[in-house]
Amino acid sequence: MLMIFLGAPGSGKGTISNILVEKNNFLHISTGDIFRNQIRLKTELGNKLKNLIEGGNLVDDKTTWEVAKTALEENDLNRNLILDGYPRNINQAKYLNDYLIEKNFEDIKIIYYEVSEKMLMQRLSGRMMCPKCGKSYHKINLKPKIEGKCDLDNGNLYQREDDKSDNILIRLKAYGDVTEPLVEYYKNKNELIIINGELPLEKIVEETLKHS
Ligand code: AMP
Repeated sequence: MLMIFLGAPGSGKGTISNILVEKNNFLHISTGDIFRNQIRLKTELGNKLKNLIEGGNLVDDKTTWEVAKTALEENDLNRNLILDGYPRNINQAKYLNDYLIEKNFEDIKIIYYEVSEKMLMQRLSGRMMCPKCGKSYHKINLKPKIEGKCDLDNGNLYQREDDKSDNILIRLKAYGDVTEPLVEYYKNKNELIIINGELPLEKIVEETLKHS
């Protein structure tokens, strides 16, 4: 089964994915994690996209689809697989849709985590992330066991460049302009499952698992 997680930056997609990977054996594809990894490893792609991504802007559709498609091909669609951060606009949704039709794959759930803008700002500005495994924490709401260290691999937590305040605004604007219309697009196709992303985390995970 392929679960597509939709939601604004800070809506909890990554955190929910981490829990489902750790506790329920899900596989997780995050185009954002793949890009950040490329930047960290200073690959040609990473060097090329670093400024754009860290400034909070979206990567072009062709490059992003190549990255997403490669990751999909490396994974078994029949396992519980989460796609997080893709698609980000209607054009990308069409690429994905065509690909899944070509693979004759129909076991797809599209889940939208709905969160108010005020809550998004609060979450993004306090977010800390592990550079090694991509697990995210929050300075107040989701603290690691040892301050500044990842619970899983002791990595030194850092603040993402694109989580710095000016860049958050750029990302939320990009989300509103190009990604939010996807919610209507999937709603009109009667394919959207909406979950209140402001519920306690355990409850959100429970609601998500009902659809697995
Ligand atoms: P995320 O971790 O999902 O917030 O993604 C971080 C950044 O990676 C985004 O702000 C974009 O620059 C880039 N990115 C990730 N996924 C996509 C996508 N589907 N389309 C365009 N850019 C993306």
